Formats: sequence, C-alpha cells, structure tokens
Amino acid sequence: MHRTTAAMIRQQELLTRLDAAIGDGDHGANMARGFTAVDAALDGAPPAAASLGALLVTAGNALVAVVGGASGPLYGGAFRALGAALGTSPEVEAGRFAAGLAAALDRMQQLGAAVPGDKTMVDAFSPAVGAFRDAADSGADFPSCAEAAARAAEAGMRATVPLQARKGRAAYLGLRSIGHQDPGATSTATVFHALAEAAGA
Ligand code: ADP
Ligand code: MG
Ligand code: MG
Repeated sequence: MHRTTAAMIRQQELLTRLDAAIGDGDHGANMARGFTAVDAALDGAPPAAASLGALLVTAGNALVAVVGGASGPLYGGAFRALGAALGTSPEVEAGRFAAGLAAALDRMQQLGAAVPGDKTMVDAFSPAVGAFRDAADSGADFPSCAEAAARAAEAGMRATVPLQARKGRAAYLGLRSIGHQDPGATSTATVFHALAEAAGA
C-alpha cells in the first residue's frame, strides 16, 4: 500500500492529464489524496489489528471516506472485499490471494456495473485478476503471479485507448472518448505494479 501511495503521488500529473481529457481532471488529486489517507490510516492502525485482511479493510475504508469521485467507492469497495476475503490469517499464499482479487473485482462490478470493454478501471482490473489466477493455478510463486497481473493490467490499460466509454463521466463524451487512455485503468495498472514491486518481482 505504501508503494501504491508513492506511485500515485509520482503519477498524479499523468492521471490529472488523462482525466482532464475525458473527465473532470480530478483523478490525480483523488488518488493522491485517497492513498495518502490510506498511508495515514495504516500507520495509525493498532498492531493488534495488523492482519493483512484487516489492514486492507482499513485501507478501503480510508478511500471511501476521503475520495468523493467514482473511484473512491470503487477502489474502496474492492480493497474492503479483498481484505474480507483474506480474513485474519497472518500469511496469504497465491491461490487465496487470487480468490480475494476475484472477490474485489466482483465488488467493483457490483458497485459500478461496468463490464470489460466499457473503458473503465475494470478493463485493467479484470485481466490482472485473470492473469494472477492463471499463474497461481499453474503453481507460480507469489511474486511471479503479481508480475503477471501487473503486465496484464498494463496491457488492459493500453487497450482502453481505442474504446468508447460506456460508464462514468467519459461516457458523456460518446465517440469523443475514443483515442484517450482511461485514467482509472491507468491507476489500476499502478496498483498492480506496486504489488509486484512490493512482492519483489
Ligand atoms: P470522477 O469520474 O467521479 O471524477 P475519478 O476521476 O476519480 O472520479 O475516476 C474516474 C475513473 O473511474 C474513470 O477513469 C473510470 O476508470 C472509473 N469509473 C467511473 N465510473 C465507473 C464505473 N461505473 N465502473 C468502473 N469504473 C468506473
Ligand atoms: Mg474525475
Ligand atoms: Mg470528479
């Protein structure tokens, strides 16, 4: 999570620029503010509550509380669902994390009703979840699974460029949303790259 926060702050201008093109230009500020609040919440969490699952729920709560835009509840809900799925076990192996990611994607889609191809964060999140699961199923270790997920998220992010937006603010642009990379898919790729980095991939 700390790596994600650092990466969101580094990428703030890029996310702002992407959202200015097809949205309202606040995605960089939303992510920087939201993940800064995540850092603060995690630093303040009592050590007794420090299972991976509980910390992810804490992170999700911070995002929901601080980010007003569409991305706050979507990422917040996803992190909460991941945390709930991981539970209180002190260690999490790749197979269980893959199941948690699937629960996170489900939650994101329940909340936002976006499917792959709608030009949203789901276009990066969904292939990342699939790639993580496929790698875990084939017996890969956690860092390799995270690396596969990050690559798939990035490919999904790039594949949003030619799509027409069907969800979120960008959908109001209709055909004019074509030719721009989706900001939320971009921040999702950032999250998975940070996970891979943290896992030592
Ligand atoms: P807002 O659009 O409220 O200003 P942000 O700019 O922070 O919020 O986030 C915009 C991103 O949110 C979009 O680029 C898109 O990826 C994502 N998004 C918007 N609506 C949805 C939705 N219904 N489902 C999934 N993702 C969505
Ligand atoms: Mg916006
Ligand atoms: Mg906004």
